[in-house]
Amino acid sequence: MLIVLEKGTAEAQIQAVINAVEKRGYEARPIPGGDRVSIGVLHNKGSVDAGHFLGLEGVKEVIPVTKPYKLVSREFQQENTLVKVGNAVFGDGSLPVIAGPCAVESEEQLLSIAGSVKEAGASLLRGGAFKPRTSPYSFQGMGEEGLKLLSRAREETGLPVVTEVLDVENFDLVEAYADVIQIGTRNMQNFSLLRRAGKSHRPVILKRGMSALLQEWLMAAEYIMEEGNCNVILCERGVRTFVRHSRNTLDLSVVPAVKKESHLPVIVDPSHASGVRDQVIPLAHASAALGADGVMIEVHNKPEEAVSDGAQSLYPGQFADVMRKMNAIHTIVGNS
Ligand code: PEP
Ligand code: MN
Repeated sequence: MLIVLEKGTAEAQIQAVINAVEKRGYEARPIPGGDRVSIGVLHNKGSVDAGHFLGLEGVKEVIPVTKPYKLVSREFQQENTLVKVGNAVFGDGSLPVIAGPCAVESEEQLLSIAGSVKEAGASLLRGGAFKPRTSPYSFQGMGEEGLKLLSRAREETGLPVVTEVLDVENFDLVEAYADVIQIGTRNMQNFSLLRRAGKSHRPVILKRGMSALLQEWLMAAEYIMEEGNCNVILCERGVRTFVRHSRNTLDLSVVPAVKKESHLPVIVDPSHASGVRDQVIPLAHASAALGADGVMIEVHNKPEEAVSDGAQSLYPGQFADVMRKMNAIHTIVGNS
């Protein structure tokens, strides 16, 4: 349930409404909004009687929330959430691009890629230091050494860094180095990790589980927001289907569906969605046309030598070309 207050309601009246909600054993969560102050009612089991609140001073209306997710829903918050990182804003209609290697491999590799993606206009640098690999025998990432290299690349280029956290155990460590924390597809429903991310002061990129319904994905985001972290960016990265011509199937239609259901920004990762370079390029263009709130692309200076995801990593020159085209497409189509 959402309690909408009159414009300009005094602080004391807002507090009185909060007290009335809490007195009934529910949690009251003030929701930021333009000129509309609202209070979300959480932790109710079953429906709440609107009559308890309708007569209170300052209350304009009481809206029942029909969705199982609350804090992430547009019913709760009509305005887009804006997630600001460095010079980038996710959710304001612009198209910030996150680019970099799948994994941090060496100083030379990372600094070279960081320099070229910055030059091409990327707003954030990505790179995994802890890698979720299907095989325990594959490269698992450089760990803290990789995080230090990301810091070094940030110093050198000024680009904020995005890196993945795999578990609660290493959360503090990753949080100390990352500007944005990524929760990967395999961890989308790792609820203890989501709760820990909800206590973080860092923005979180929450990738869609490889077979997750929109509702399950939003519920995962709800875990993070419920703990108090409102800076959540959703990332579509392809879902598993019957096809064999690409690694996954990029679910383009989920972007407008997310925007209808949620105020959270949603970005697209065409790299993990397709798994092959020649598909990444047109899918990146499509992402720019779609009204996505950002794009994440893997780039490598020597893809043929990459320790992971070389086949889907763009050469720096290709990335620069994709950036030019995405910007041109975004200018034409806009994002309303
Ligand atoms: C990644 O972005 O490094 C990654 C492992 O992606 P995903 O979780 O989407 O597979
Ligand atoms: Mn990868």
